[in-house]
Amino acid sequence: MNEKIIKEKLQENFLRYLTISSQSDEKNENIPSSVGQIELARLLQKELEDLDLCQIEINQYGVLQARLPKRGSEKAPIGWVAHLDTVDVGLSDEINPQIIKNYDGKDIILNKEEKIIFSTKENPEILSYMGDDIILTDGKSVLGADNKAAIANIMTALWYLKENPQINHGEIYLAFVPDEEIGLRGSRKIDFDKFKVSYAYTIDCCKLGELIYETFNAASGILKIKGVSAHPMSAKGKLVNPIMIAHDFINMLDRNKMPENTENREGYVWITDINSDVLNCKVDFNIRNHDKEKFEESKKYLIQAVDLLKERYKKAEISIEITDVYSNIADSIDETNKVAIENLKEIYKKLQIDPIIIPMRGGTDGSYLSTRGIFTPNYFTGAHNFHSNKEFLPMDSFYKSFLVTLELMRG
Ligand SMILES: [Zn+2]
Repeated sequence: MNEKIIKEKLQENFLRYLTISSQSDEKNENIPSSVGQIELARLLQKELEDLDLCQIEINQYGVLQARLPKRGSEKAPIGWVAHLDTVDVGLSDEINPQIIKNYDGKDIILNKEEKIIFSTKENPEILSYMGDDIILTDGKSVLGADNKAAIANIMTALWYLKENPQINHGEIYLAFVPDEEIGLRGSRKIDFDKFKVSYAYTIDCCKLGELIYETFNAASGILKIKGVSAHPMSAKGKLVNPIMIAHDFINMLDRNKMPENTENREGYVWITDINSDVLNCKVDFNIRNHDKEKFEESKKYLIQAVDLLKERYKKAEISIEITDVYSNIADSIDETNKVAIENLKEIYKKLQIDPIIIPMRGGTDGSYLSTRGIFTPNYFTGAHNFHSNKEFLPMDSFYKSFLVTLELMRG
């Protein structure tokens, strides 16, 4: 089967998944947080039936799982996780993609009426795709290659395996999860009894060659302060202002270890919200670090800071609560699963793709799977500018991403 037919199939699948709007909604506490995600899961369920997968199920949280039995192979069972939601960054929920054929290196008018231009000056990386077909937005939404390019990629690989019965492959497990963009909520709802894999992959980073097997360790925290209120005419010696205590707390943090002053493998504490009245104050924060030890030290430091404040403000009630959110993918690598990354690097070499290895300043669904002991590296979709109306997907990179998936499955 030639490249042209596969590219057509990839494109056709991708565009079909884009027709279902599936932004996740941070304010909705239900999982899934939006109906579009269930709609997409149902469409995929039907398609997986046609592709002869078994144990196809959508659970009460909208997680779609399925299994493809192995064929003439002794490979270890491998899982793929992709997310059904697209991100809500204040843009339209409706995605109207456009395809620029044989890109000529000029600026692209994304939207004539609204004068939204894709400028090569601001996005010079697009120039390396001259001559390729490129999928872009109409300027009003994200493209949603994050993560529908991954879903299309996996579905196309399964279709290819069905069309080519002479190709052997290992056992394949799938989990299409909702609500990744709003705190990896969906992957927590995978039924792991039906996801019996040696390791897994996500296809959830950007340009050709990107490869991630290191993410943050992440925790979120809340500091709660109850002060003592008093009328200002008789407040001396009585009033305890919770805002001033919060101020002390923030002052104890190292400014050099905040997001605005850190990069690469440097961790941070990020104050994300303060809410207060004269009596009660609540401070939200995030802790992030690639290094597990430093991550634990950060937590300890904050707890000690609160102990100090309790000493200083005996009449206030102060408490701190820190909850782990996800772990560094790299912490789940062991002798039995490191083959996941070795195979991936081999395949890159075979396909002449230069690996771009990035310690990710964030988390993927794999960061949650890592806490369950499932090592889950992440490779490229081929798209650029995730979470932006300038998101674009060059067809050739998309095709290479598909080839990586196919190679990982076969054998
Ligand atoms: Zn994503």
